Amino acid sequence: MMEEEFRSIRIEKEICHGCMSCMRICPTHAIRVHSNKASLIKELCIDCGECVRTCEYKAILPLTSSFSEFSKFKYTIALPSPVFYSQFGKEIQPGILLEALKKIGFDDAYDVACSSEAVSIALQEYLDSNEGPRPLISPYCPTILRLIQVRYPNLLENLIPIESPMEIAAREAKRKKMQELGLSEKEIGAIYITPCPAKMISILSPPRKKHSFLDGTIAISEIYPSILQAIPQITTKNDVKEVRGLGLGWPIVGGQVASLKAEECIAIGGINDCIRILEDIENGKLRDIQYIECHSCPNACVGGSLTIENQYIARGKVLKIVEKYGSQPCQEREYIRELYRRNFFSQLGKISASPIKPLDDDISKAIQKMKQKQKILDMLPKIDCGICGAPTCETFADDVIKGLTCADECIILTVKKFESMSGNLFETAQKHSRKIKSRWEDEKK
Ligand code: SF4
Ligand code: SF4
Repeated sequence: MMEEEFRSIRIEKEICHGCMSCMRICPTHAIRVHSNKASLIKELCIDCGECVRTCEYKAILPLTSSFSEFSKFKYTIALPSPVFYSQFGKEIQPGILLEALKKIGFDDAYDVACSSEAVSIALQEYLDSNEGPRPLISPYCPTILRLIQVRYPNLLENLIPIESPMEIAAREAKRKKMQELGLSEKEIGAIYITPCPAKMISILSPPRKKHSFLDGTIAISEIYPSILQAIPQITTKNDVKEVRGLGLGWPIVGGQVASLKAEECIAIGGINDCIRILEDIENGKLRDIQYIECHSCPNACVGGSLTIENQYIARGKVLKIVEKYGSQPCQEREYIRELYRRNFFSQLGKISASPIKPLDDDISKAIQKMKQKQKILDMLPKIDCGICGAPTCETFADDVIKGLTCADECIILTVKKFESMSGNLFETAQKHSRKIKSRWEDEKK
């Protein structure tokens, strides 16, 4: 049975104005606009959320859960991305925000930054003890993971097989509550408070395994107003749990690398820079680098499309939070190392490639179609005007060959066709007029 393909966005055709801003910003050319309505080519989408951010009519909706879906659980736990702590006033400490999550309806809230710190220690152990391919690449931005599956399948083996902080946190939070309350795993809902729609894809199609310990996501932007209202209700500040550790720095570019001891590590933010780096790795470069932290968003997760705070201000707040609470470890390093030795963090399955389909499954037909595509492309002006509803002349030629559009949609080709037709008409008229003239002259004689 074919696995269902989930993507992190949905286009509301009724609301779409056909302005093409999403088509122009999409880094993988996954959007087309025909008859003034945008549509998505699912196999090309990498869930980056750029189109969600850019659509001023709010016609592109992120795939997240709604609160009503969680009523089926007997007990709910909120797991906020560490980005959440950077969205409010500087004076509001992370522990208060965990309490505020309980005030807005969750039964409990579990700090994911602590799991990020534990994952950093596990990453360090893996880097120290494994000889495998270099550089190793972080798999924690789902967009980068998808980009590698689609465009750089040769690099799948460079993805480090250490479980993500959100999965570790959900597994631990559920395990503790199952013991404490005698509930089954299915009766407990673990909900990630997310900065981006891509995280939902990691839950619906988790890498290297069949089942995620998380049950849904809620956008930071969605719960922001209710959290603001809940904060003043937290009066017993002495009972607030202290959140600490270097995992608090994970939401910014360099946050993972800063928590590692390895020297040859680099951190990249922004999809286009990540594409350049992945191309370099594919071409055999950067082998002396041990680990590369890659984020699709230029400022990493503080710049996710479902956040509220200005990303530069949020970055500053993360740095302050780390300065204040980061120096004290969240858990004993030796304890985490022991868990690592017991495979607590290991991802055992394989990540499969999702390469873009060729023009035809039959290789000789595919070559034929490639030639036809090149012929069409040679006739096109290569100005990428977008009037045809495709982002570039090359994607337009591809669409024509795949039967998704017809060559007449290119205004330049149509004008050329009319020009040559009118040229032919003119020649024919001239020919006929010469004939008539000579007959008329013959008759006169
Ligand atoms: S989520 Fe990103 S890749 Fe997918 S359609 Fe939107 S801009 Fe393109
Ligand atoms: S960098 Fe972070 S917020 Fe942006 S797409 Fe990746 S995981 Fe989501």
